[in-house]
Order: sequence, then structure tokens, then C-alpha cells
Amino acid sequence: MRYETELNHALKRLKEIEFALNESSMVAITDHRGVIQFANDRFCEVSKYSREELIGNKQNVVNSGHHTKQFFANLWKTISSGNVWKGEIKNKTKDGKYYWVDSTIVPFLDENGEPYQYIAIRHDITKRKRYAEKIERMAYFDALTQLPNRNGLPAWLKEHMNGNRFTAFFLDIDRFKSINDTFGHHIGDLILQEAAKRLKGCLRKTDFIARLGGDEFVILLNEDHSMDHMHTVATKILQAFSFPFKCNSKQIYTSTSIGISTGVVTNHEPSELESFVGTLIKQADTAMYHAKKQGGNSYCFNTLEQNMELERFYQLEQEIKHALTKDEFRIVYQPLVNLTSNQIVGAEALLRWDNPKLGTVSPTEFIPLLEDIGLIIPVGRWVMRSVCHQMKQWVDLGMGIGRIAVNVSPIQFRHEHFISDVRQILNETGLDPHCLELEITENAILHMDKSIKTIETLKELGVKISIDDFGTGYSSLSYLNRLEIDTLKIDKSFIDDLNMDGEIIIDTIIHMGKNLTFNVLAEGIENKEQLAYLKQQDCHEGQGYYWSKPVEADDIPTLFLQKAAGV
Ligand code: C2E
Ligand code: MG
Ligand code: MG
Repeated sequence: MRYETELNHALKRLKEIEFALNESSMVAITDHRGVIQFANDRFCEVSKYSREELIGNKQNVVNSGHHTKQFFANLWKTISSGNVWKGEIKNKTKDGKYYWVDSTIVPFLDENGEPYQYIAIRHDITKRKRYAEKIERMAYFDALTQLPNRNGLPAWLKEHMNGNRFTAFFLDIDRFKSINDTFGHHIGDLILQEAAKRLKGCLRKTDFIARLGGDEFVILLNEDHSMDHMHTVATKILQAFSFPFKCNSKQIYTSTSIGISTGVVTNHEPSELESFVGTLIKQADTAMYHAKKQGGNSYCFNTLEQNMELERFYQLEQEIKHALTKDEFRIVYQPLVNLTSNQIVGAEALLRWDNPKLGTVSPTEFIPLLEDIGLIIPVGRWVMRSVCHQMKQWVDLGMGIGRIAVNVSPIQFRHEHFISDVRQILNETGLDPHCLELEITENAILHMDKSIKTIETLKELGVKISIDDFGTGYSSLSYLNRLEIDTLKIDKSFIDDLNMDGEIIIDTIIHMGKNLTFNVLAEGIENKEQLAYLKQQDCHEGQGYYWSKPVEADDIPTLFLQKAAGV
């Protein structure tokens, strides 16, 4: 009976061995203590030890230090009690390189059922392991920046529970979409990589940072940290973005908007902790939106009011989709005045949106939204058609309003049908092209060669071109002499700063504009002092509340007649 049992055991073991063995198997036989008695060629080849070096040595000569003591204790427990062990082990070659094996260790038992020998059959699975590690890395890490992604958070939370306070920073790079559109995705990627580096430089080793996707990053602080520390980190981050990003030969300026939310965790259960931190991140996201609305390059803490603002954003998005078909847009006009003659020489058309639920929404709020959801193209076309139609009526009335200016979004300007749209609208309305001025921003013309062509074609049509908000874009001044521009509009912010060193910039722009024979217009003149200064600097034209706020089309003839009569 005993003989039969032994035989069965032996047959079973042989089956295990037969099953595990193939041409590429590493085979080792050890005694009951793990001392190697036999090693085949393949084992020597992979481990880089000679047979002489292996034989007489303990099996653990190939240990890598990767596995815990417990791991080997379990392995020994299994085989020393007469059972087969199967598993994956990370080993080390003689020259210090790591390799992975799948391992089958079969014990041979003596008549007392005690193991007297072990046979270990191993296969090199390093390639497969590396691949698996790579896949795992891909699941938890962002390939572009090498930062963890959203999935990396739970693992970090498990390891970092020092103190109860957590603070989430939610970051979004300002104008990233426009950088991508303007310079291409390759440059966008370089900026993200550099941004990741700079952000890491602002943090402690124990802080967590992840890229959530796109241009969004999240940072988590744990351990003891005060409110002061949160301000310090936020300021450090803003500073880290204050110097230009060097991408190939370009220097690109950008900034970041940061939302911050902080809280104390009460339940340390992993799932509770995850949901607590998830809420913090959501709140920080809301606060970030608030920082964006302040013009970016700033940070904001989460408050209840901000939650309400986010709701407004979603509501705006819902409502604006139907604004055009529901006839909720209207256009107002603001006079442009010649500073020498004090005459109205034209008007700028400005879009207004009146919504029954939201009231009148500012274009600074809804134009970026229209751009985001792609509706700027049909709305922009509607504006241009309505304005040209209106201007044609004024021209036909013999009012002598020199030109009507229409704002053109960079997205519109770069759209493939832009020129044909302008041509068609001019044909349709019969407006003399010289009466139409298109206001484009510096950012619209950063793709220099294409922009030069578009502007040239527009000029051939007879349309005038002005650069709006001049001085606030990314571009350098050197591009100006390559473009056929009629008017430079100095941004209102410089006029606002007239009492605080704004003069230098204004003087430079006026001087340069004159040298290039451009017409220079100052936007947002509100008082006599500003007007006097600009006149003194020989600025040609102005626009602002000093003369008139934007008014309804019906009010323009009266304003115009008053000014023409010198009132
Ligand atoms: P913008 O083209 O620079 O227009 C000038 C803005 O400054 C207008 O704001 C105008 O009302 C305001 N403004 C003029 N003078 C003064 C002043 O003395 N004081 C103050 N505080 N403000 C003054 P608005 O109408 O709110 O438009 C804001 C921006 O929205 C415009 O800036 C333009 O970039 C954009 N926008 C407006 N209408 C359109 C449009 O039809 N299409 C596109 N793409 N953008 C538009
Ligand atoms: Mg404008
Ligand atoms: Mg402007």
C-alpha cells in the first residue's frame, strides 16, 4: 500500500516535471537545504554563473532582493511539506541584471515523506514581465509627462496618510487651446512636459501630482500644512509659470489658473477617503473656473458662491445654443472719433445677448463660449451680415459715417470660408468694401504666412484691417511691418494705466504706429485727462465712454449729426 502511494506521488511529480519542461527550461536540482547539485546549460547561460560556481552554492545565490522574506518563507513552507510550488520570481544574474522567471519547484520525498531533493524548472519571462509593467505603467501614468494619471491616486492615498488635512489644487493652463491652435500640438506637448517639471519643482516629495488629461493637473497636499503653506505653494506655482517656455526656437508665455479646496477627513476607510478627496478635487475645479474668470494667472479658494457660478456656466452653455435661432442677439454701435477734428469717423459694432432667463450677458463672457462650442462661425457670419446691411442703409441715407468696424474672432479669421463669406456678404448687401473694417487680434495672425495671405486677399477686396486690443497678445512687434494694416487699436488697459506708467507703452505704440504709417486709435477713453494726454501724443483717433457708450443703431444718426454739428 505504502509502495503504491509512493509510486503515485512519484508519477505525479514526474508529470509536473514533464509538463514544465521544454527546450528553453532552466533546470536545477538541490538538496533538502537548497544547495545546488545540478544545473543545466540554460540555467548557467541565463544566470551568467558557470556550473562550477553554481554547484555547491545555495539556491538563493540568484535572489534579487525584490521579494519579501515572507514570500520565501511561504515558498519553503509549501515545498518542505511535500507540495509543488509555482510562481513568478525576480532573480539577478551574476553581473547584476534582473530577470524574471516562472518557476515550478517539485520536491522528491524519502520513505518518511520528507523532501530530500528539489527540482526547480524555470523559464525566462523577463520580456513578458517588462511588457506587463509597461502596460501597468500606462494604466497609472501619463505617457507624455511621466506623472501619474487619475488612476494613480488611490495607490498614493494608501501610502500617504499623514495627518487628516488634505488640500487639492486643480490647475489649468491659461489659453492652452489657443497655444495648441496657434503653434501646433507638438509645441503644446512640449509645454505640458515643461509645465509638469516646473510643477514638480514647487512641491515636496510627499505631495501628489497627476495630469488629469489635456492641460489639467491636480496636486494633493497631505501631512501637516497650514493655510499659509497653501498660499505659498500657489504663489510658487504662479511664479514658476512667469518665465517663458522655450519650445524649439520659440519663447511662449503662458500662465496657469489654480483652484484650491481644503478639508479635514474624518473617515479613513479607503473608499471613504477616495470619495472625500474626489469631492475636494471637484470643488477645486470649480474654484479654478473662478480663477479663470478673473483673467487667469491667479488662484482661488472654493466657496459656495463659486459653485453657483459653475451652474451659471452650464446654463449659459445650454441657452446660447439656441440664441441665434431665438433671435436673442442684437448689435450696438460705439462711435470712433478723430482726435484732431473731434468728428465721428466711424463706429464699432458690438454684439449683445439678451436671454429671458439670464438677462443681458457680456460678450467677454459669451464670445469665448461661442468659440469653445464652435458657434462663433455662424454667429460671426450673422453679425457681419447684419452690420453690413445696417451700414449700407446709413451710407444710402448719405450720413457719411466713414467706416464700420466688426470684431472677428481668431477662429473665424482662420476658417477656410472666411474670405468667401466676407465677399458674399459684401455682394449681398451691396456695401462699399472701403466702409468695412475688420478688427482682428494679434493672436489671430500668429501663423504668419497664412495670415499675410488672408490679409492681402481681404485688402484686395477693399476691406480695411485693424489690430484690436493691441499690446495684449503674445506676438512680437516685428511682425507689424509685414502686414498691410490700417489701424492699431491700443488696448484699454494701457489707457487705464495712464497714471501708473502706462505712458511709456502708449508713447511707444503711437510712435511705432506712425513710423509704419498706421492709423492709431486709443480704446476706452473715459475722461478729459486721458484725452488730453493722447492728443498731446498725436494719437489719431479715440473711442470710449468719454464720447458715448455703445448705443442702439437707431441712436447713431442723432449722435452723428450732433458731432458733425460740433455739439
Ligand atoms: P473690444 O473689441 O475691444 O471692444 C471694446 C470694448 O470696450 C467694448 O466692450 C466696449 O463697450 C468697451 N468700452 C469702450 N469704451 C469704453 C470705456 O470708455 N470704458 C469701459 N469700461 N469700456 C469701454 P464689450 O461690448 O463688452 O465687448 C467686449 C469684447 O467682446 C470686445 O472687445 C470684443 O473683443 C468682444 N466682442 C464684442 N462683440 C463681438 C463680436 O461681434 N464678435 C467678436 N468676435 N467679438 C466681439
Ligand atoms: Mg473691437
Ligand atoms: Mg479692444
